Amino acid sequence: MMNPAAPQDIAVIGAGLVGSACALALAADGHRVTIYDPDPPGAGTSSGNAGGIVTGAVVPTATPQVLRALPAYVLDRNGPAVLRLRHASRALPWLWRFIRAGRPAEVARIAAALWPLVDASLAAHRHLAALANAAGMITDEGWLKVYASDAEFAATAPDRALMDRCGVRYQVLDRDGVMALEPGLNPDLAPIGLHQPESGFVRDPRGLAQSHADAACARGARHLRQRVRGVARRPDGVTVHADDGPQDFDRLVIAAGAWSARLARQLGDRVSLDTERGYHIGFGPQTAGLLRRPVGLPALGMVLSPMRGGLRLVSGDELAGLTAPPDFRRIRALVPAAQRAVPGLRGQPVASEWMGFRPSTPDSLPVIGVSPQGARVVHAFGHGHLGLTLAAITALMVADAVAGRPPRVDPAPYGIGRFR
Ligand SMILES: Cc1cc2nc3c(=O)[nH]c(=O)nc-3n(C[C@H](O)[C@H](O)[C@H](O)COP(=O)(O)OP(=O)(O)OC[C@H]3O[C@@H](n4cnc5c(N)ncnc54)[C@H](O)[C@@H]3O)c2cc1C
Repeated sequence: MMNPAAPQDIAVIGAGLVGSACALALAADGHRVTIYDPDPPGAGTSSGNAGGIVTGAVVPTATPQVLRALPAYVLDRNGPAVLRLRHASRALPWLWRFIRAGRPAEVARIAAALWPLVDASLAAHRHLAALANAAGMITDEGWLKVYASDAEFAATAPDRALMDRCGVRYQVLDRDGVMALEPGLNPDLAPIGLHQPESGFVRDPRGLAQSHADAACARGARHLRQRVRGVARRPDGVTVHADDGPQDFDRLVIAAGAWSARLARQLGDRVSLDTERGYHIGFGPQTAGLLRRPVGLPALGMVLSPMRGGLRLVSGDELAGLTAPPDFRRIRALVPAAQRAVPGLRGQPVASEWMGFRPSTPDSLPVIGVSPQGARVVHAFGHGHLGLTLAAITALMVADAVAGRPPRVDPAPYGIGRFR
């Protein structure tokens, strides 16, 4: 019988935002942590996001409005969301669950389950950032969405009803209010805004993951730059088979993002996990000051974020699996619209193009908590569109579970058992 209060040998697979945060929270509790990832911390999907710690993000991806638009998504070769036909048959079981998650009663249930996580997300980030001496990496400019017309804003009333029911705080702004927050926007495109002032912003998400991993290592953790080939349970722990051979641990945390399903399956846990691939285009460092915070422009299908390296045009939701090559045509086609929205971008050359793999469950809820097959295995993946937002609260919940402390958020809605 394991004494949860005693220091344990714990493997964490994955050094993205989620795995690095888990490693820090576990090392801070005194555990001996081994991180497995062939890549540097935060180098993959976690590096390329829009930087939002979105504390009001209770609206799941599947809603009745999204389901109504689904056929157009599939057929429109130039739209922001796409299902690649080659991936369609593999995606069908996930899509079927996605469609069921978009029923009104389910949407209300999922929003209520997201709320305690997103509501605790910024405080959790500040806690871990303080441990990592990285408090300055998280700023509090909030999250702004800008609507092109009254009609477009009115169409989002169901989203605001969900936010109201949960108690999300936001302000509706007129054109002057939007322009006071973001003078770099084109006023003609910004008649109405919705600002969530309590959201946070990370200009360098890869740097944040690196800080967490460094702080974990300063507390005795080690990062093995190896790929995990397989995992197996033992009566008194878990064996990890990596590039350099097998190694035994008391516990295992699966935080391998979009690659987590196969590892979970090897340990007897089934999950519906696909990747919603997303893209960004980066402009040069001289564009970093054109905006102050991430700005969502739903009509244009994009978010514009002033990241450390320059303004980032973020877009795309592509169901195409883990191996198909990126297709940058859609995001390239958005550059003129981004330049219309932020006139200071005109004439600025594209500095980089990027694609990443959101690890997405069909019900927009992450998979957090101990395995139903035994508490030696803890899951921490499936954060979809919210992996930056939820990385720190996930890590604290994982540390609570390992320590046997009362959970700070009831983990019941996030259990992997829901996929049986
Ligand atoms: C375009 C875009 C914009 C986004 N914007 C936001 C935003 O504004 N706010 C927000 O909250 N979220 C956002 N997200 C989502 C967020 O970036 C992701 O949810 C998050 O990065 C997932 O982190 P992760 O640690 O779970 O996965 P990853 O970052 O993918 O890390 C997983 C790690 O596991 C490693 N790994 C996989 N398999 C193995 C193995 N077998 N052995 C060893 N290591 C392995 C990989 O190498 C990788 O480093 C966005 C995503 C995209 C694509």
